Amino acid sequence: MEIMIEKEQCDGCGVCVDICPYKVLSIEEETAYVKGTCTLCAVCVRQCPQEAISMPGGSIKGEEEVSNYKGLWIFAELKKNKPIPVVYELIGKGRELADQLEEELSLVVAGHDVKEAVEDLSQYPVDRIIACEDPLLEEYHDERYTHMLTRYVQKYRPAVLLLGATTNGRSLAPRTAARLGTGLTADCTELEIDFDRKCLLQTRPAYGGNILATITCQYQRPQMATVRPKVFPKAEPSDQMEPAVEYDQVDMACLPVKVVLKEKKEEVSDLVSIEEADIVVAGGRGLGSEENFGLIEELASLMGGAVGASRAVVDEGWTPYNRQVGQTGRTISPKVYIACGISGAIQHQIGMRSAETIIAINKNEDAPIFQIADYGIVGDVNEVLRLLISQMKE
Ligand SMILES: Cc1cc2nc3c(=O)[nH]c(=O)nc-3n(C[C@H](O)[C@H](O)[C@H](O)COP(=O)(O)OP(=O)(O)OC[C@H]3O[C@@H](n4cnc5c(N)ncnc54)[C@H](O)[C@@H]3O)c2cc1C
Repeated sequence: MEIMIEKEQCDGCGVCVDICPYKVLSIEEETAYVKGTCTLCAVCVRQCPQEAISMPGGSIKGEEEVSNYKGLWIFAELKKNKPIPVVYELIGKGRELADQLEEELSLVVAGHDVKEAVEDLSQYPVDRIIACEDPLLEEYHDERYTHMLTRYVQKYRPAVLLLGATTNGRSLAPRTAARLGTGLTADCTELEIDFDRKCLLQTRPAYGGNILATITCQYQRPQMATVRPKVFPKAEPSDQMEPAVEYDQVDMACLPVKVVLKEKKEEVSDLVSIEEADIVVAGGRGLGSEENFGLIEELASLMGGAVGASRAVVDEGWTPYNRQVGQTGRTISPKVYIACGISGAIQHQIGMRSAETIIAINKNEDAPIFQIADYGIVGDVNEVLRLLISQMKE
């Protein structure tokens, strides 16, 4: 899909060619045409003096329409009826951004029985809580939650919508963005306000964390972003504000769904989830066996941390997939990451390099993990782990 150029309206002035950030426009026989892959960024649509360029379906919002969207929203994801930790982190950052914009901060809470969650969230510095209670929302369900969130956005028109970059958030955000025809920046690690343009600057790591890309969504609303857990500090409860609570039903029963939940199996879950843990002890192929992987579990439990693993270990079947760290596993930012017998392949680093402190144990002093480690122990991983465990027990 690409922008549409009205040939009869275009006079070949070339403004679009000069401003196209991707250099995919050209002039031939006094008319603009697309010569490469158009990203639909819409810069040319705004700037064309002849108004000869439009978006497919004419979906770009006018300035007036954009200014009708107000307020900052957070989707308050629940697990077993309780807000998950990233919600409190988003409230802290969201409050700061909403104050800068001089707009309201609202939370959207959805589930079957959300009263306790609403009560808990009411203690935090938010202006409003919009709650949707429905037995059909008891379990997270892509189609139902997308329907609910889309309806709310269409009704209340928030300027910004933030979600945690959790498994559910990463599924819900793109579906909602696609329904609303707006942009989404996934996995943000920084959010700021551009006061001149009154828009959200959404920063996320790209190319394996080697560059930071700052993305804006200028012409569509809401500006949507998922935010990595443990990037922002949690908000503190505050008695300065009493949020207005609004229960607003969305008709769920009328929604035809293609996905039916037939059975629910609890994941082999750790006491501390890997994405939320301050300490992660992770094991790699260097441990040598499933039995030795038990040392990782023992040390993690002694330290009150979570267990992580490289893909090699998961592929061996020594531990479940939900512990895999890396490009095709989880992306985590704990305070301490202990990599045990892990080489530090780039695909693994992508998932853990933003940890505050990295400790690596490896017998090969040239292993790539040492290039990003703050502390390194060169030695046999199983021996070192046994020593650490006995020290911890003492
Ligand atoms: C598309 C794609 C996606 C991928 N996604 C991921 C991902 O999400 N996560 C991930 O982890 N990988 C991923 N990989 C795989 C990745 O490239 C590596 O193969 C993998 O991370 C290696 O795991 P490892 O470090 O445990 O094993 P190895 O690379 O085999 O490293 C084992 C390390 O243990 C050390 N060692 C051996 N014996 C001992 C000992 N006795 N004491 C101390 N040290 C010892 C060795 O020196 C070595 O450094 C992906 C690959 C591809 C192509």
